[in-house]
Amino acid sequence: MQVGLIGIGAMGGPMAVNLCQAGFDLAVYDVNEEAVRRLTAQGATAAATPKELAKVSEVVITMLPNFQIVSSVMEGTDGVLSGIRDGSLVIDMSTVAPYQARAMAAQAAQRGAAYLDAPVSGGVAGAKQGTLTIMVGGSDETVDRAMPIFGVLGRKVYRVGDVGSGAAIKLVNNLLLGVNTAAVAEALVLGVKAGLNPRVLLDVIRSSSGDSYALKAKADVFILEGKFEPGFAIDLQYKDLELAAQTGKELGVPLFMTGLAQQLFEQARAAGLGSKDISAVIKPLEKLIGVEVRG
Ligand code: NAD
Repeated sequence: MQVGLIGIGAMGGPMAVNLCQAGFDLAVYDVNEEAVRRLTAQGATAAATPKELAKVSEVVITMLPNFQIVSSVMEGTDGVLSGIRDGSLVIDMSTVAPYQARAMAAQAAQRGAAYLDAPVSGGVAGAKQGTLTIMVGGSDETVDRAMPIFGVLGRKVYRVGDVGSGAAIKLVNNLLLGVNTAAVAEALVLGVKAGLNPRVLLDVIRSSSGDSYALKAKADVFILEGKFEPGFAIDLQYKDLELAAQTGKELGVPLFMTGLAQQLFEQARAAGLGSKDISAVIKPLEKLIGVEVRG
């Protein structure tokens, strides 16, 4: 199967490697030339533009930072939609809002292409290991077409409803990730200020009721080591909380915790930490209190 993948960064890069290794005929496009070189060394073909990529692909996947960038690679004279073959399939695996996914699906349909929104969870480790959780919005028939690809990229694939539903469930998930990560940061700072050894603190919480994915994934590898390279960048988490907040406004749902967490990530961005891992949300809090959670 001829597949094109646009956006070969922290997530799309390892996903592309897995598709190459699984024997897909893969074309890639990215504005980062170094990322493209890494993939051509693995057997992928470099496309000159999104349009050229679409011309040689039965399935076009996008894995990009936000919807503005997804739109910019889809639309315009060099965009995917101007080169798309009739009957092709477009899968956006980026995290976007449900209304954005529906709008892009409508544009794809006008060009005779099927569309799925299929955001993922599992982080860079899951992308590398091919164990992502994939949340798909679209028809059963279209999801079936994509299953050979999803089977390589993920371990669990859920069809959660029509186009836009994958995006909706991803926003709910990432609302929880943002809120929980901010809570982990606040709690660890309090614990260390209270004189506790961070390792003892973590050991006890891990076998107690305060444990969470955020604590497991972020405390040892990032916070205690003082290594904040993403991972999942603060700018992306901030975007996801904003998408959740927008969706809440659209639907009339107050999101108190989302607002608080977003302000903490805003504070981290203001401190110049936007490109760091979300665990770096702890750093302004550490500075404020005058402690460091390291061990
Ligand atoms: P990233 O910034 O590491 O990668 C994005 C890639 O897109 C980069 O290689 C960049 O050069 C490329 N790009 C940017 N603008 C472009 C353009 N105009 N044309 C072509 N390429 C362009 O981001 P990421 O962490 O891989 O995240 C990608 C998406 O996946 C985001 O929507 C994010 O919210 C979501 N996501 C990320 C994680 C994670 O842990 N990093 C987990 C789940 C979902």
